[in-house]
Amino acid sequence: MKENINPTIIVIFGGTGDLNSRKLGPALYNLYLEGFMPEKFELIGTARSNLTDANYCDFLEDGIKNFSRKGKALKKDWQKFTKHVSYTPADIKDPESLITLKNKIEKIQEEFGPDTQVIYYLAVAPKFFSAIADSLHKYGLAGDKDHTRIVIEKPFGHDLESAQELNQMLKQHFRERQIYRIDHYLGKEAVQNIMAFRFANSLFEPLWNRNYIEHVQISVSESIGVEDRGGYYDGAGALRDMIQNHLLQLLCIIAMEPPTSFDANEIRDRKVDALKSIRKFTNDSVRKNAVRGQYTDGWINGVEVPGYRSEKDVNPESNTETYAAIKFNIDNWRWQGVPFYLRTGKRMQQSSSIITIQFKDVPHQIFQNESVETWQQNRLIISIQPEMSIRLQVQAKRPGLKMVLNPVDMIFDYKGAKHTDTPEAYETLLLDVMTGDQTLFMRVDQVEYAWELLMPILNHWENKTSISFPNYTSGSWGPEEAEALIAKNGFFWYSLPIKHKD
Ligand code: NAP
Repeated sequence: MKENINPTIIVIFGGTGDLNSRKLGPALYNLYLEGFMPEKFELIGTARSNLTDANYCDFLEDGIKNFSRKGKALKKDWQKFTKHVSYTPADIKDPESLITLKNKIEKIQEEFGPDTQVIYYLAVAPKFFSAIADSLHKYGLAGDKDHTRIVIEKPFGHDLESAQELNQMLKQHFRERQIYRIDHYLGKEAVQNIMAFRFANSLFEPLWNRNYIEHVQISVSESIGVEDRGGYYDGAGALRDMIQNHLLQLLCIIAMEPPTSFDANEIRDRKVDALKSIRKFTNDSVRKNAVRGQYTDGWINGVEVPGYRSEKDVNPESNTETYAAIKFNIDNWRWQGVPFYLRTGKRMQQSSSIITIQFKDVPHQIFQNESVETWQQNRLIISIQPEMSIRLQVQAKRPGLKMVLNPVDMIFDYKGAKHTDTPEAYETLLLDVMTGDQTLFMRVDQVEYAWELLMPILNHWENKTSISFPNYTSGSWGPEEAEALIAKNGFFWYSLPIKHKD
């Protein structure tokens, strides 16, 4: 289904940056190839570098060659696409230099007609957000509330206070319906499918509560370290970088009440309800329910890797956590007594994002001990990456003369669909920005509730240096305390078996 989109100008601040090269350029080009771009559109890149239009197109083409799911652009398509692409140098710190950009936008608006919408994508460091918003206001580029949108990337603040400041600043010049806060996790195909799975099937809703579900795990592990982001990461850590946004969003999708419609605000209201129901942390509950870790050197896939404190741009005595595991309790009728365990870490044994929903055991065991040696409670496992699948683990009889039970997986996966046909998260999200659909974007209150919830943990960890750091080996599954956290309730962290290539 192709969309009916108004003529669109997309201005990318940070046009020469990594995000544009890896994600935005390839996503916009793929949307163009698949016919989703409106007939009249213009992409304007801007940054300080003094590039010509042709240089900028070469920069985008390189990004597409290296990072697009469809690979290198074909000459005939590329020539047509680049008719819509241009570059204007400007320094955000020097508002005067933005006048050329302003004139260009106004000229194209005139040419495209009164319905033209302008999207400002801030692919720059957060310290520039305020100056850009002020300049857009000053030059009258943000005045049309119905045809102007602004897109910002996480991190949405460094803590509750700075997030509130950022939101206040944006509020001065933009209405909430114009602001698109991207958490690219929400654009992932498998994440969107959780909504379809929960709310388009009558099968699961009766089971989706404390009567049938024993506990939930959300695990996002990475085998990579901080790579060249040491400077940023050392001031952030796993809680800010992953849990405050991606993992809490996943928790919301699992825990939210069914919305009455697929309306953006209705869905975001239900997510906020879920966040508000999470039990607040105290110093005492942080000690009991939150575990932090930092990796030491080790081996990943046969390669020796350094410990976190020896990484580039990292303080050699850093107290920053590269791993966090937290037990959340949700105080409402649906989830009372069902723990939600969230964990994330770098330099872990496997890169994977999975949600495991473990159902309660059968109330009475009728099979004999020898039949049930591999007995396992039912589980629903939603794998977001690398494999995109949903598995329902059930018990079944092993074929043969004896009654022996075995767990088997009923699997829905995306293997049937060619990998290249699955849109990247940024394609989905950029299309949504163009069509004005905010469902998959973070609303101001979601961002602030998430910060509010985590502030006691952040404060506790920052005020108290961990004497056990570094406390897990690269290539392991994280610190022992995290195993103990979940084992206290009789559970263990679940991971999908690694598939080895033949
Ligand atoms: P980056 O590679 O460092 O790019 C920064 C961009 O800002 C460059 O185009 C740079 O171009 C421009 N810039 C810097 N100072 C400027 C100034 N005074 N005036 C105008 N332009 C200026 O950063 P990035 O990785 O693309 O990240 C951009 C934002 O997206 C960050 O907030 C980051 O946290 C977020 N993000 C990035 C990724 C990713 O995959 N890279 C993923 C998620 C979120 P010039 O030097 O030419 O001016």
